[in-house]
Amino acid sequence: MGLRNCKLCGQVFVSDSYKICSQCREEEEQDFLTVKEYIYDHGKRSIPEIHEGTEVSVKRIKKFIREGRLMETGVELTVECKRCGAPITEGDYCKECRDALTNSLSQGNSKDKKEEPKRKSNSRMHTSIWRDD
Ligand SMILES: [Zn+2]
Ligand SMILES: [Zn+2]
Repeated sequence: MGLRNCKLCGQVFVSDSYKICSQCREEEEQDFLTVKEYIYDHGKRSIPEIHEGTEVSVKRIKKFIREGRLMETGVELTVECKRCGAPITEGDYCKECRDALTNSLSQGNSKDKKEEPKRKSNSRMHTSIWRDD
């Protein structure tokens, strides 16, 4: 049983892997549609402009972008990488930071199987020629 407080409104709700209650989820969904419609109607706009046009919070707009949900509009919107600040179109980190993070995470866990040429040490050529001298 997971009772928790909604991250957005603070209301206690039965959590099914979500961090926000169903009511807030519905509102978020509505916001998403609003933002999407706005982009379809206006084309590429900056996040503050979308915010002004839709009254959806900047934070939420960025969340939609990070989740990759606005990609279907065909308009490329960018948020900043949480690590280095580079503009990215999806997720939390840019590719470089993602690589750096996965590398530091997976270090020691996965051994790179580089194929080393195995030297056949047991197959010496027997070149002993018997000579009857
Ligand atoms: Zn809520
Ligand atoms: Zn980065």
